[in-house]
Amino acid sequence: MSRTIALLGLLTLAGCETTTSGGAVGADRSQLMLVSSGELDQMAAQSYAKLLADAAHAGKLNRDAAMLKRVRAVASRIEPQTAVFRRDAPAWKWEVNVLADPQLNAFCMPGGKIAFYAGLIDQLHLSDSEIAIVMGHEISHALREHSREQASQAIAAQATIGIGAALLGLGQGSADLAGTGYQALLATRFSRTDEAEADRMGLELAARAGYDPHAGVTLWQKMIAANGGAHQPEFLSSHPADENRVREIEALLPAVMPLYQAAR
Ligand SMILES: [Zn+2]
Repeated sequence: MSRTIALLGLLTLAGCETTTSGGAVGADRSQLMLVSSGELDQMAAQSYAKLLADAAHAGKLNRDAAMLKRVRAVASRIEPQTAVFRRDAPAWKWEVNVLADPQLNAFCMPGGKIAFYAGLIDQLHLSDSEIAIVMGHEISHALREHSREQASQAIAAQATIGIGAALLGLGQGSADLAGTGYQALLATRFSRTDEAEADRMGLELAARAGYDPHAGVTLWQKMIAANGGAHQPEFLSSHPADENRVREIEALLPAVMPLYQAAR
């Protein structure tokens, strides 16, 4: 019983916070955070370095100079805009690379480690604005530290099963924590709440960077069309593309169009 109380106290102390300020789209939901940003960023940097090394070894890293230039140009316009949600973010150690891989996929790991798979751009014939929508969305997962939140929730859930074990891990900040976080990072399956937040924030980031937010509608319509085949693209298994998503993006256009017009 005393352990339960101690754990609850610890949870409350480590507690709830919001990683971002609201911006025009209201992204300031309170989040449970039990792992430090530093731990997650370190894991992400190591995972990303391994991914790049593996890709280079396979001859798949940044093969298309023109595509790399396009993707990096979009990133360089979006990165400064992240300040609207987090003042520390523009100074992150951003990295942007393109993998010569037919998958429809893209991600931004904690701390700003971005990868685009060429298949996403090639097969969906993405415009720069549509690239900006995907990038804004993925960057928003990192700004909101959704992976860190996931890791924290996993730890909290484990705590209800084995309080003693969890307390040991929490108290020592040990390899157990790192292991849980690493798993959450690799098996990234964001919640619908996370997805909606990333859509809203990404739309605002793209608009502020001077990209037409209407591309959010065309992007997801292309995703819906791509979803029809026998193989579900990796990106779509974690990012359900449906008419509902398109409608929610359309409903946000009046809030973000003035930002786009001001940025042009
Ligand atoms: Zn997402």
